[in-house]
Amino acid sequence: MMSECSFGHVVILGIGLIGGSLARALREHDAVSQITGVARSRETLDLALQLGVIDKAETDPVLAMKDADLVIIATPVSTIGPLLELIAPHIPAHCVVTDAGSVKGSVISAARSALAEKIDCFVPGHPIAGTENSGVAASFAELFIDHRVILTPLPENSAEDVHLIQTMWEVCGARVVRMSPEDHDAMLGATSHLPHLLAYSLVDFLSQQERHDDIFANTAGGFRDFTRIAASSPVMWRDICLANREELIPLLSSMEQQLAVYRDYLEKSDGEQLEQAFRRAKVARDKLPEVTKVGNDE
Ligand code: NAP
Repeated sequence: MMSECSFGHVVILGIGLIGGSLARALREHDAVSQITGVARSRETLDLALQLGVIDKAETDPVLAMKDADLVIIATPVSTIGPLLELIAPHIPAHCVVTDAGSVKGSVISAARSALAEKIDCFVPGHPIAGTENSGVAASFAELFIDHRVILTPLPENSAEDVHLIQTMWEVCGARVVRMSPEDHDAMLGATSHLPHLLAYSLVDFLSQQERHDDIFANTAGGFRDFTRIAASSPVMWRDICLANREELIPLLSSMEQQLAVYRDYLEKSDGEQLEQAFRRAKVARDKLPEVTKVGNDE
């Protein structure tokens, strides 16, 4: 599909799984005149150039801002505020900035203090698509097809800028929805951040058992399905869990209570209650939309 719009000179800060996939998708749809990729390491940038994901590489985000029309920040959540602070004085007047961060409340507060009166150019976003793999080598153009992207526009954003970011994601095949940052963090806390925490916790717990080698040697599909996301980037997920801790802490407390109820059923050998609980879960799981049943996170 050829896009009819060009986003001009696109600068992607963080050319990993998300930034690289976005670059590939925009390029595939002929939607950009140039893509500059920014990362800290030369290795990342050389690989991105070699794979044809970007046209130009920069280690200095400030230098990359020259003539930028659209900036996408796709680095770990804790780095988004500091990067915005660094580039703030150098963002061209017409330029629109967005991000891909998995938490919105904390990113927006950091953006407000970094950008001050320039906050109107920042349209916060989050693609609900990903895999457990990191880095530009893991990126692919189809990542966002039929996946949701949540935008949490700010009152200061112009309708044109929000429309531009929406169009950018739609060009990549995504379905864009808008919601408040509070709703975003509550929903994603429950459906993404909590499951990642539980998967990490299960694998960490088992890895510390004396017979962990035997335990892992006897895993099958169920264990792999449940724990696939525990292979995700620890740095990225540390950031996400800390940034959304206000949602995660009460969710974890509720989960602890839920596990205690299940333990109680087992202690009482209450098969009826246990089966009912499993049935409720199966009914809910069977109703999930197809795209969320397989493969891609988040
Ligand atoms: P990733 O594959 O690890 O890529 C991160 C990229 O950022 C790398 O190119 C890294 O290269 C660069 N980077 C890291 N710190 C930087 C800094 N301070 N300045 C400049 N570049 C920096 O991570 P990702 O999975 O694409 O995730 C990126 C963002 O998207 C995160 O905010 C995450 O919450 C969000 N997100 C992730 C997923 C998912 O499932 N993976 C889904 C939706 C949204 P160097 O190490 O060379 O600097």
